[in-house]
Amino acid sequence: MKKTDKLGVNTICTHVGEIKDEQFKGAISPIYMSTSYQFYDVDVKRYPRYFNTPNQEALCKKIAALEKTEAGLIFGSGMAAISTTMLAFLQKGDHVVLQETLYGGTYNFVVEEFDKFGIEYSFTKSLAIADFKTEIKENTKVIFIETPSNPLLKIVDLTAVSELAKANGIITMIDNTFASPINQTPVDFGIDIMVHSATKYMGGHSDILAGAVAASDTHIERIWNLAKNLGGSLSDFTVWMLERSMKTMSLRVKYQSENALKMATYLENNSKIDTVYYPGLTSHKDYELAKKQMKAFGGMLSFELTEEIDAMEFQRNLQLIKPSMSLAGVESTMLNPSQTSHALLSPEERDKQGIKDGLIRFSVGIEEVEDLIADIEQALDKM
Ligand SMILES: *Cc1c(COP(=O)(O)O)cnc(C)c1O
Repeated sequence: MKKTDKLGVNTICTHVGEIKDEQFKGAISPIYMSTSYQFYDVDVKRYPRYFNTPNQEALCKKIAALEKTEAGLIFGSGMAAISTTMLAFLQKGDHVVLQETLYGGTYNFVVEEFDKFGIEYSFTKSLAIADFKTEIKENTKVIFIETPSNPLLKIVDLTAVSELAKANGIITMIDNTFASPINQTPVDFGIDIMVHSATKYMGGHSDILAGAVAASDTHIERIWNLAKNLGGSLSDFTVWMLERSMKTMSLRVKYQSENALKMATYLENNSKIDTVYYPGLTSHKDYELAKKQMKAFGGMLSFELTEEIDAMEFQRNLQLIKPSMSLAGVESTMLNPSQTSHALLSPEERDKQGIKDGLIRFSVGIEEVEDLIADIEQALDKM
């Protein structure tokens, strides 16, 4: 086979890392559920919590190939990947700069746990590079970003962040969940470490909870050293399920991105909708930047219903699109952040973050857009 960096993305998704079934010549990777492996006459001491069972190692190769890095690691959840990766590079007395809007779980991890480890942190005032610069201190070791951001799909300049970090000897980490490696490979722009909630586009069918990290061999070794002690590994059965899901990731994500662009355009021209937030619309303030660093603009978008329309009633009226938490499945889902992901914030805090009561986050699936449009039309007509 050609070297993985020469392979096309669909070929990587389908084949890289697959385990040959030498015994029965089956078409797919066998699944190795063993928690006990022989210790003599072997080159690796295998154990699921060492992240090195045959299925784990195989899937790590696929993730690394997709992110164009030397190595990868798979975790029991996105948060296990994120927490382990941050703690691997931060210790007592260190400081981390985090972008203003982050996934809620990541935000909670930082503000609820870092004090007890003696790790200092600052959030930027905006996503502008100047605001990252002002937060950097003598003891800053890590810059952590997430782009496109949740739920307003704001874009952070990857090249500018990595240049700023390199000039100051700082490691950069990105939560690349929303874009997925199909639409964005941050290593091309100098970002050091990619973390994922594999629960989302990598899994893609709303039935797997998992996390992933991709980086250089040296960085992955450092993360592994902590990971084996914290113990956040993923069961081999789920690893195998995830491998199967990832075979179709590029097909799914490409189609979801096309659907999302069509839906964003439709919503932008609908008089019952105010603002539409999608980085693929030329009206989006970061459109040019998104075009520079993303291959397509992803399956996530947000929109504001006009004030007369009650967001909850609108969602109850939907028949095809599921009002539900989480995102990135092949089925379309919607939620309104003010009642769900951002419900614990005060109305003032939500206002400051630009999250209005009528804001709806839309995870676009693989259904036909005509059917999605018809569902939204009938839900709005009932009001
Ligand atoms: C869901 C999500 C996470 C957390 O992942 P889990 O698999 O739920 O632990 C982190 N970041 C982003 C952007 C997410 O959407």
